[in-house]
Amino acid sequence: MYQFSRAIYRELAPRILPPPLGAPAMRNRVAVLHACEDAITRLAIDRHNFARPERTLFCDIRSYFPMWAQGEVHRVVSRYVGYAQQFLVEHPHEGYTAVNGAPPHCRATTRKGTDCQRTPLPRNGYCPSHQHLADTEDRELVAA
Ligand SMILES: [Zn+2]
Repeated sequence: MYQFSRAIYRELAPRILPPPLGAPAMRNRVAVLHACEDAITRLAIDRHNFARPERTLFCDIRSYFPMWAQGEVHRVVSRYVGYAQQFLVEHPHEGYTAVNGAPPHCRATTRKGTDCQRTPLPRNGYCPSHQHLADTEDRELVAA
């Protein structure tokens, strides 16, 4: 998964503003790289609860770039976040395992209060036994 965050960083690194005098020389570059990694990690682990990831990442990093580069920053972020989302639609378990080190499990909690350990369906992150929770969630979203 981190090939996506590294690709964003590599394309944008030449445009990153220098940090203010007295700050560590790499400060802004490290901040941009971490923001990209955080967004990709969250996308891979919890994409069902991550609305508009390209907007979130763009807002997190835009202050590290000059005004004239904002349009380009937005385009690069949108493009690679789009690639990452496409990859996760096709390979949800591989994406999750790559950032988490362990395969995904169902988003539901069992009656004992522990996480359900069954393999989730890619479309909503719930296992077959907990699909009714996804339906409830959809209704709540519509109501809200
Ligand atoms: Zn379950």
